[in-house]
Amino acid sequence: TVALNGVSKHFQLPGQRLEVLRDLSLDARPGEFLCLVGASGCGKSTLLRLVLGLEHADQGEVRVGEQPVQGPGVDRGIVFQDHRLFPWLSVEENVQLALHRSSLGEQEKRARVRHYLQLVGLQGFERARPDQLSGGMAQRAAIARALVAEPQVLLLDEPFGALDALTRQRLQEELLGIWKRTGATLILVTHDIDEALYLGDRVVVLDSRPGRIREVLDVDAPRPRERHDARLAHLHR
Ligand code: ATP
Ligand code: MG
Repeated sequence: TVALNGVSKHFQLPGQRLEVLRDLSLDARPGEFLCLVGASGCGKSTLLRLVLGLEHADQGEVRVGEQPVQGPGVDRGIVFQDHRLFPWLSVEENVQLALHRSSLGEQEKRARVRHYLQLVGLQGFERARPDQLSGGMAQRAAIARALVAEPQVLLLDEPFGALDALTRQRLQEELLGIWKRTGATLILVTHDIDEALYLGDRVVVLDSRPGRIREVLDVDAPRPRERHDARLAHLHR
């Protein structure tokens, strides 16, 4: 579970106090795929940063599992809108960095890195540098980096925003596959309501000023495209 309980967060800007989240409560069940949508500036990235442990709440509690979040930990992985890979490191070195606190041996680490690069379809590009990859490939490397420590919670901040429609659709499918295989809890922020409705078990719509929950949509299972695929499979029997 990821749980926010009565969380408030403000930032102090020159001459003004900016209230971003006010008394916000929200939780994601284990293995749930939660999507967050809301206007620009309403606090979506701030919410993810609170769950990651990069920000501290003014009030309220943020918990992952039984533990209150104290700071970043290996039980949570994050993918930002831009890949944020280190340009001077190879793809595999970037991914392996996420294992720097792991107790695995060198061999096991390398095997793990290869496994996740393969999972996102980047086999053969282990030694490439980020600027030798396309945007979609770099984003997949960032997803591999977030997954490699096998976190229980995966946070994704507009991960496909900068990609073309076709690549986005492919990565959406890959993400659904990864989610099913790993059983992780996913929280994905997107501006694309169709994407949220397609991917999410629930879609949380945040209100702006200050960010509160406007509504929570329960999405009918199965997902529309799966339903479509199921019908196709039935027709072809
Ligand atoms: P977008 O959809 O544009 O990414 P968002 O919902 O992710 O927006 P946040 O990045 O969470 O919005 O920012 C919410 C508000 O908090 C914004 O007004 C932003 O200016 C402010 N803010 C975020 N981080 C900081 C910071 N470190 N210092 C000061 N203000 C901040
Ligand atoms: Mg944001």
